[in-house]
Parts: sequence; structure tokens; C-alpha cells
Amino acid sequence: MSEERLKDDITSGQFDLFGKILDADDGVLGDLKVTSSFKIMKALGIYKEKIDTGEVYKSGLKKGLPKFKSELRYDGVKEVLEWAIQLNYYRMLLEQQGFKVSKMFIQAICRDSNLRIAQERGIDKTVYIIPINKISDCWLKKYFSHKAKTLRNALETKTLPSVCKIRERWGNKKCTDYCAARENCPYAKKITQFAKTQEQKGVEPDDYRKTA
Ligand code: SF4
Repeated sequence: MSEERLKDDITSGQFDLFGKILDADDGVLGDLKVTSSFKIMKALGIYKEKIDTGEVYKSGLKKGLPKFKSELRYDGVKEVLEWAIQLNYYRMLLEQQGFKVSKMFIQAICRDSNLRIAQERGIDKTVYIIPINKISDCWLKKYFSHKAKTLRNALETKTLPSVCKIRERWGNKKCTDYCAARENCPYAKKITQFAKTQEQKGVEPDDYRKTA
């Protein structure tokens, strides 16, 4: 099956593929994502570690300060919660219809895989198949009920809900570079202004995002 729309009394959604999509197992649920190398790096648990080179800057704003270089590490937390929540909700809706879902995968297509920045993030392929674990149905129902209530309340009262959690904001990087709502989000405007000021002072993004 592909692109079937399913719904319950909380929400609805349309998954991309379900069935024998990888091997002989006919219970595989998959979703396609066209996304950035940054998000794939996070999903694979890749991160950069700063290594002291033992040298110092000889001129400029950073004169006298130690020089660092970045090295990639591959043992970080796999940040796939957003995808896992969405895919698990499709799983739950399918199971309510009597289908058995045995495995879940995200097929992540990297939209900037030909750029140097992707290589620097350890992303050297265009497509990654990322396994997704099961989340309990009880947790999913509570989460989506809360989100639906928050949205209804915001629409009725014409007030914005509280700022997204730090996990949802990817430590503010989503607000400055990726969120589809950032043009209209007061928090994104504030944090983008803060980022500009810090960059003018020569503070590295990884450092100022921790203090924002
Ligand atoms: S830009 Fe606004 S809506 Fe988007 S993640 Fe940041 S806080 Fe949330």
C-alpha cells in the first residue's frame, strides 16, 4: 500500500509505503523524508568534537586564543524522535485497521549531499535507511491529544502556544535555519537576532546556542 490516508478521533496522517518494501516481510512500514545533512547527521548519532590543536591564533579578533579543530564521532544519541512519533502513529492507525506492522524505517534522502558541508558532517551518501523503534500507544495518544488541544486553544484564543521545547528546537538550530514557521515565530526572530550579535563577536555557533 502507498499513500493511504488513515485517521482516528485525534488526528490523521498519510504514510508513504507499507508491505513488502524491503524484503519478504510484508509488515514493513516506511516513510520517505527529503531532508538536510544536518538532520541525517543527528539521526545517525554523528556529532563533532572539538580537539585542541595546541596552537594559538596569531592575529585578528581571536589573537592569543587556542585553536581547535573538529573531529567526527559516531557514537552519539540517535535523534529520531520526531520521525519516530510520526511513524509510530501511522503504525498505530494501521494496527487499528487489523494490519500487523513488524518493522519501521525512514528512507532519508539528503538534499545537500553534493555540498562540502554534508561531507564535513560525515554524510557521504544520498540515501539512508534508518530503523525506527516502537513507541507505546499510550504515550502516543497522550502526546497527540496534548498537541491537538494546544492547537485548538491557540486557534480559538488567537494566541501563540508556549515556545517549543529545546528538544523540539534542536537546541535552537531549527529556529535559526530549518523551521517552516520561523518567519512568523517571535522566538525565532529573537534567537536569530541573538545569533547575529554573537557571530559579530566571533562566538562559534555551537557555543552561543548553549547559552541562548
Ligand atoms: S522557530 Fe518557533 S515554532 Fe519553529 S521550532 Fe523554533 S520555537 Fe518552535
